[in-house]
This record gives sequence, structure tokens and C-alpha cells, in this order.
Amino acid sequence: MSRPDWVPLRDELRDAEPYGAPQIDVPVRLNTNENPYGPSAETADDIARAVGEAAVDLNRYPDREARELREGLAAYLGHGLTADQVWAANGSNEVMQQVLQAFGGPGRTAVSFAPTYSMYPEYARNTHTRWVTGRRRDDFELDLDAATALVAQEQPEVVILTSPNNPTGTALPLEQVRAVLDVAPGVVVVDEAYAEFRRAGTPTALELLPDHPRLLVTRTMSKAFAFAGGRLGYVAADAAIVDALRIVRLPYHLSSVSQAAALAALRHADELLARVDDLRATRDETATWLTGQGYEVAASDANFVLFGRFADRHAVWQALVDRGVLIRETGPDGWLRVSIGTPAEMSTFRTALKEVDPR
Ligand code: PMP
Repeated sequence: MSRPDWVPLRDELRDAEPYGAPQIDVPVRLNTNENPYGPSAETADDIARAVGEAAVDLNRYPDREARELREGLAAYLGHGLTADQVWAANGSNEVMQQVLQAFGGPGRTAVSFAPTYSMYPEYARNTHTRWVTGRRRDDFELDLDAATALVAQEQPEVVILTSPNNPTGTALPLEQVRAVLDVAPGVVVVDEAYAEFRRAGTPTALELLPDHPRLLVTRTMSKAFAFAGGRLGYVAADAAIVDALRIVRLPYHLSSVSQAAALAALRHADELLARVDDLRATRDETATWLTGQGYEVAASDANFVLFGRFADRHAVWQALVDRGVLIRETGPDGWLRVSIGTPAEMSTFRTALKEVDPR
């Protein structure tokens, strides 16, 4: 959309489009890495009851420190973490923006390694942080020598590593995170939005927290936790880092309704997470099937699979939409990403893909 000249938008935002995957109303939506399994009626009722109780006090501001919720999130994460070492906001998007508000900013630099989550440059732009992108290897693993050399050269205040990475699904070995921490002068964020889907044997960077005070590990309830609509992301870090994030947060950023709903969802963690094993199995089946069809498939520790290559990926994406299957046109040119849905949804996806791209 062309913007009228009289709108006094910052120059660098003039040609920008709002971020977001197309929200198209089709029967099979496999484009934003949501959990396809919603809460049971019982869990939904319990969340509604908690929200109802919060509603009685909506004339009052919420707990600015979201103390009870942070305690619940710390208990969920384990690893000996306490509420002082956990911070929460409206989605890990907001957490990451707060991280860049606190540790980035004018005259400061943030680094990440592409292909990766396409929101990062937007957080940097919005916080006037200089943005530098390194490249991953062709197999989407981190090129550790190049990565540490870039960090040593740029001396960034913020490094963002993503594990498992979006859109490739690639997880990072902890030695690599350690090696980046060793050379990074500022904070290192490991975005673990998809951590619960990682394969057996893939570690979490939470293990590194006790020895690395400048490490931040971000998580979200949007994916494995089946709570994307609730908007709740969080970060585990040293208590001094959490305290620093409190400087930039808006007062009462997490509404009473959000806090109550997230706490209720946490009480039902077992049920909400119960399908993670199924989703992992379906992911592996999907990857195997795609490989069998002759596609290149990126090894995935997440709830999605990146596959290719297509001479014209947009045409394939559109033809799938025309058949009621919405996947994501993202990542390097020639690749498409499919989120893992229910077995029935994946079957519809496979049938549609065979039709639109017979191999
Ligand atoms: N990090 C990564 C790597 C993601 O893929 C996403 C969602 N697509 C997010 C963060 C943000 O998730 P949310 O704001 O819903 O917590």
C-alpha cells in the first residue's frame, strides 16, 4: 500500500510493511507453527474461570511484576531457576523488543545468523540498533569460525542465536553457544521458542545459565504450549539481567487477564504439552516422506520442516492455498516451510503437494 506523504512516519519506515504471515481462512493452516491441538473443554473452562475471577478486579492495575506467573514459569523451566531469574511479556516478540531496548539502541550493534527469524531485524530497526547479519552454512548449521570471527570483529552488545532455528529447524550444540559466549562482549540471547520439540539428545541452553551471567534464554507459550492466542513469552537469565529489563518495560505491560489465563494454562501444562511427542513423531514422518518424494529437507528439531527446492516456490505456495492448504513462503529462495499439524491435516498437505508438484 502506498502511504500518503502527509503521514509523518520516520523516513526508514516509509516503505515498510507490517510484519506478518498472511492470515487466510482455509481449512488446513500450517503456516505459523502453532500447536494444532487446542485445549480440552475442561482446560478451556478453567482458563475462562480464572479470567472471570480476574475480571472482578479489572478496575485495578495488574501485578506489575507478574510475580505469581514468573514463579510458575520458573517452576515449569526447572534447572533450579527462581522467579527473579524469569521475566515475562506479551509473547517472546515483546521480550525480544525489551532486550533490544535495554541492551541495544543508538550506537549499539546486534548480530544474528541468517537464514533466521525475520522479526529480528525489525526489533533492531524499531530500537535504532545497528543490525549485522552473518550467514549460516548451506546445511543451515552455524559456521562457528565465521560466527565467532564476526562477533569478535563487530563487538555487538547483543547476539541472537536461535535454537531450534526458524525457519530451518536447526538446533545448536551447546559448545557452539559457549564459544559465542566466550567471544561476545555483551549479551547472548538463545531464542528457544521451539525448545520443547527438540529431538532426544538435543540440549537446552538453560544448562549454561549458572556459568554465564550474560546469557538470556527466551521461550514462549505460543508453540508447544498451545497458547499462541494467549500471548505469553518469557526469558530466563541472571537476576541482574531481569532487573535491567524492568527498566524498559511499560508499566502493567501484562494485563491481569493475560496473567490469569497464563497461570491457568500452566496448571494444565501436562495436558497442553501432551501432544508434543505426537507432533515430533509427525514431524519426523513428514520429513521422511518429503525426502522420499525427492525433496531436500532441512533436519528439524522444531514443529515445522523446511523443504525444497522449487524453481517457483510462490506458484507452489499459491497452488496449495487454492487447495485449502496454507503453508509459509519463507526462508531462502526456493524453499517452503510447513508447520506440523494433525495427521489428517498432514495427509491433506501431502495429497495437495503431490497434485501441485508431481515429482
Ligand atoms: N522466536 C521465534 C524463533 C519464532 O519463530 C517466533 C514465532 N514465530 C517467536 C520468537 C515469537 O513468538 P511469540 O511472540 O508468539 O512468543
